[in-house]
Amino acid sequence: MKLAIKFVLHLIFVLVLTIGTQIGGLVYLVSIFVRNFVLKKNLLKLNKRFLFIIIYILTYLFFSFIIVPPVAKSLGRTPLPVFSNENIKPLNIMTCVLNRHYVTPKLKESIINSAEEFNGLHPNSVVSYLDANFPFFDGFPLAPHLSHNDGKKLDLAFFYKDQNKKELNNSAPSLIGYGVFEEPKAEEYNMPKNCEEKGFWQYGIIERFVPQWNKDKMIFDLQRTKDLIHILSKNKSISKIFIEPHLKTRMKLNNEKIRFHGCRAVRHDDHIHLQIN
Ligand SMILES: [Zn+2]
Repeated sequence: MKLAIKFVLHLIFVLVLTIGTQIGGLVYLVSIFVRNFVLKKNLLKLNKRFLFIIIYILTYLFFSFIIVPPVAKSLGRTPLPVFSNENIKPLNIMTCVLNRHYVTPKLKESIINSAEEFNGLHPNSVVSYLDANFPFFDGFPLAPHLSHNDGKKLDLAFFYKDQNKKELNNSAPSLIGYGVFEEPKAEEYNMPKNCEEKGFWQYGIIERFVPQWNKDKMIFDLQRTKDLIHILSKNKSISKIFIEPHLKTRMKLNNEKIRFHGCRAVRHDDHIHLQIN
């Protein structure tokens, strides 16, 4: 019985880590093997759990930085720049630690070119990316984004100003970039309300899990966000861009690539979603 419970617990850990980081479950199994080897050979005298945590972290980092990038490259995906490009950076470094920043080379080239063009218009402004895709396997979704499963999808953060109208960079009211919404104004079309009234309860649910304390401290930067979306929409490789309809109207954007994503998805008044064919 005890063994069965242990097995189920291991299975749950493997599943959760695989869903969250793709390689985490495999690293978990490798770490158990390494820990047992260390204990058997009496190489280190440490508490069994503490030893496992250290081995897990080291193995995870080894896989993430040494093994995954070349293997992903050979299978057609490449990581977005982490520190190497001044025009585009992750909003939150955890996106990269969790291996959620992989795209196809074509998407990488497109977004780097667009970020460079944007930088020409707004020097010193940094395009911040959010979730992209995992390194391996078409069809393996990057939870909770079901469509981010082929290396061809990428989310970007909006731009914001502080209360003194100073432009902020690499900063958003939500630490993860999602879940703090730029709400429809009274006179604007309210798609989130419309979707929720139709029964799509998931549409704005993330707001309940994300702290809202910066919502009033950061002001949506319409001009820079609009300029970025305009540049993205001109990029020939980019086929679709999703934002909430009230923001498309507010920003006076009319390129046909900029679309509504449907009530089955989630709100897009906290980030930009883009994809290539
Ligand atoms: Zn997306």
